[in-house]
Amino acid sequence: MSQYWTDLVHKLDPYIPGEQPQDQQYVKLNTNENPYPPSPEAIQALDSYNKHQLKLYPDPESSRLREALAQRFDVQKENVFVGNGSDEVLAHSFQAFFKQTQPLLFPDLSYSFYPVYCGLYEIESKKIPLNDDFIINTKDFDIDNGGIIIPNPNAPTSMLIPLSDIDKLCKQSSSVVIIDEAYIDFGGESAIPLTKKYDNLLVIQTFSKSRSLAGLRLGYAIGHKDLIEGLNRVKDSFNSYPIDSLAQTAAVSSIEDDDYFQQTCQKIIQTREQSCEQLSQLGFKVLPSAANFIFVSHESRGALELYTELKQAGVLVRYFNKPRIDNYLRITIGTEQEMQKLIITLSEILQPGKIS
Ligand code: PMP
Repeated sequence: MSQYWTDLVHKLDPYIPGEQPQDQQYVKLNTNENPYPPSPEAIQALDSYNKHQLKLYPDPESSRLREALAQRFDVQKENVFVGNGSDEVLAHSFQAFFKQTQPLLFPDLSYSFYPVYCGLYEIESKKIPLNDDFIINTKDFDIDNGGIIIPNPNAPTSMLIPLSDIDKLCKQSSSVVIIDEAYIDFGGESAIPLTKKYDNLLVIQTFSKSRSLAGLRLGYAIGHKDLIEGLNRVKDSFNSYPIDSLAQTAAVSSIEDDDYFQQTCQKIIQTREQSCEQLSQLGFKVLPSAANFIFVSHESRGALELYTELKQAGVLVRYFNKPRIDNYLRITIGTEQEMQKLIITLSEILQPGKIS
């Protein structure tokens, strides 16, 4: 608290990211990072980068990177916006499109940064409840609105909505629809092709999950060129150089290395399916996941208690103390060995007769 803060700063309710312990002593399954390293080609590009070039500002338009993304997704460079993590792309999108006379709509259970941006940009919002099975019914979004944002797959539930629903959503809406596809590469079908059909659809993805580059901070949006121009107007009123030269270089190589990308995504999907089966055998209800994380609750043991015991045993998962989901744990899919450690630790914790 400070007398020097503006009223707005007093009112902010900032996002709290998952723990990033610096001591490396945990099996870290709490922030949906990829357990595998970035593409060897991205690492090679960083190794051979001429550091003397760091005296210069980076390309403010990230042209090579936007070109590489355009090629990858079969769109034009004018349809691509890049930002410092998809969080920054989301923030600019909220500012560019969502401060309208009608409220922004998003699911009551979804990415908890959305209400934070609403606070920062003073955007009215309305939460649309998921049904009892955590399913998003896109028909419920057919009310007056100043925009719609939905993560697909949803976070933290991990559940996917079909592309046909997104198609209907864009058709029924006269405002901007954003699909936040941070986790789409782990089993979903991207809505990017629909951006050619609907000029109100913006699809946002990230290098942080399926491309193992969370530390580089890179995200992007794909949509009609007028939406992209709106984002560029916000970006160039905020920071002309959000993507540093090293990030631009590594990201281009990562995009070009499609084999490695496919391999690591497949490995995570396989490990996820195996872990889901093992957790079901231990008495967990596991929601159907199309992401690199799963959302689980146990038939007899409370989530907070399990979170605490796992942490004591060196396994970090995510617990949300929020209505409707306070008996669930969100568990990131790690390597096979990391998931084995999780399963063994949970088996020990859940042993009959064990006093907690
Ligand atoms: N969207 C969703 C749904 C997320 O879970 C996250 C990760 N916390 C992000 C966007 C932001 O990811 P990043 O800024 O690392 O690209």
